[in-house]
Amino acid sequence: MDYHFNTLIVGGGPSGSSCGISLLKGGASCCIVERYSFPRVKLCAGLFTGKSQDCLKSVLGQDAYDDVMRKVLMAKEDTFSLYRGMKSLVSCNLQKEENQPLSLRHTDCRIRLVNRPLLDEQLIKHYVSLGGMLVENDAVKDIDFEAKVSTLTSGRTIRYEHLVAADGANSTTEHLLARHDESFARKGRSAMCIEINVDRSDLDIGGVNIYFDIVKGSYAWVFSKGEKVCIGLVKLPWQSDVDVNRTMLSFCEKLGVKNMDKYPLRGAMLPFGNILSVPVWKDSVFFVGDAAGLVEPLTGEGIYYALQSGQYAAESIIADSTEMYLHKVAYLHALINKGRYYQSLLEKKFTSKFFFRHAHRHPRFISQFYLSQIEHASLDSFLKIVWKYKCKKQ
Ligand SMILES: Cc1cc2nc3c(=O)[nH]c(=O)nc-3n(C[C@H](O)[C@H](O)[C@H](O)COP(=O)(O)OP(=O)(O)OC[C@H]3O[C@@H](n4cnc5c(N)ncnc54)[C@H](O)[C@@H]3O)c2cc1C
Repeated sequence: MDYHFNTLIVGGGPSGSSCGISLLKGGASCCIVERYSFPRVKLCAGLFTGKSQDCLKSVLGQDAYDDVMRKVLMAKEDTFSLYRGMKSLVSCNLQKEENQPLSLRHTDCRIRLVNRPLLDEQLIKHYVSLGGMLVENDAVKDIDFEAKVSTLTSGRTIRYEHLVAADGANSTTEHLLARHDESFARKGRSAMCIEINVDRSDLDIGGVNIYFDIVKGSYAWVFSKGEKVCIGLVKLPWQSDVDVNRTMLSFCEKLGVKNMDKYPLRGAMLPFGNILSVPVWKDSVFFVGDAAGLVEPLTGEGIYYALQSGQYAAESIIADSTEMYLHKVAYLHALINKGRYYQSLLEKKFTSKFFFRHAHRHPRFISQFYLSQIEHASLDSFLKIVWKYKCKKQ
């Protein structure tokens, strides 16, 4: 046996590094195995919500958090706009005090956008600086779940007590485990994303912009990120007839992107509503982040869920309590299910028509919804949100 660790973490994205950092702070030995070396390519629009910021602060501590953010923050934007097709629906200034829920008044409500490859690199560097073992450029190829031994592509073997599957949307661990236990077989419900980052000289658009119905029932985005503008779109799992590349090229043409041949289209999978309802196997394997299907379907937000589930898994391993992880992750499931509900409303003819007809008259409602429901974690029901808005009670 080449190595023996209390916890083996498969994957060095935000879920893996959050778990590793939290384990080291709790005194447990661990090893992260990552298929690539850092900084690695990672498609991501980089929307880093208030709840992601709070979670990262709690994982790193304030000083390390400030240091990481100084290196990875690309932009702070205060305008949030919605479009239907290319037609503007509503534009909100999130810094305007009257648009903010009372609880957020006097705070900086600008939207943070980060450089994802750099963020992941900084988190891994922090993990290593705490003494964490990192095996880069090597992948977990096989796992003997009963003997608790993992074999890497290089042939090296690692024995573990706990294994954390932080290996993303196309989780190797899940594929391997599905041979033992079919409740872990992927249900094939991943969305397909296409994304490019263009130079500002080729497209000059400010703010954070969401375009509904570029792909019917789904959305596209244009995020202003300093010198770059990030453009992307999502094709939902059941939209097999949509040609994403063609749709993306036509969207870019409508936006007026210049020199498109400089920007090859790149795609990546995003888990979509395929949460693992029990993300633990026999008290020894814990699924976190994308590998556990923890992505919010309304927005595609996954960084918060990755960081948070990684931290929860570490706390539960240290406390030697699987129940603790299941209990904590149920809260993330509730947030995701709420997003799934809103997403399903946008897919329905009646509710989407209502939304598209009335959104432009209620920019304050849209701002409050965005700030309270998406930037920050809240389980308020829709009626409660409307009631608070109507009564100006927030
Ligand atoms: C186009 C796009 C845009 C997005 N935009 C946003 C956004 O703006 N905001 C947001 O919050 N979320 C966004 N997301 C979602 C977010 O990127 C993911 O939810 C997040 O990366 C999940 O982190 P993770 O650590 O679970 O997985 P990942 O970041 O995917 O990390 C998994 C790691 O595991 C490694 N790995 C895989 N298999 C193995 C193996 N066998 N052995 C060793 N290593 C392995 C991979 O190389 C990878 O580094 C976006 C996703 C996409 C696709």
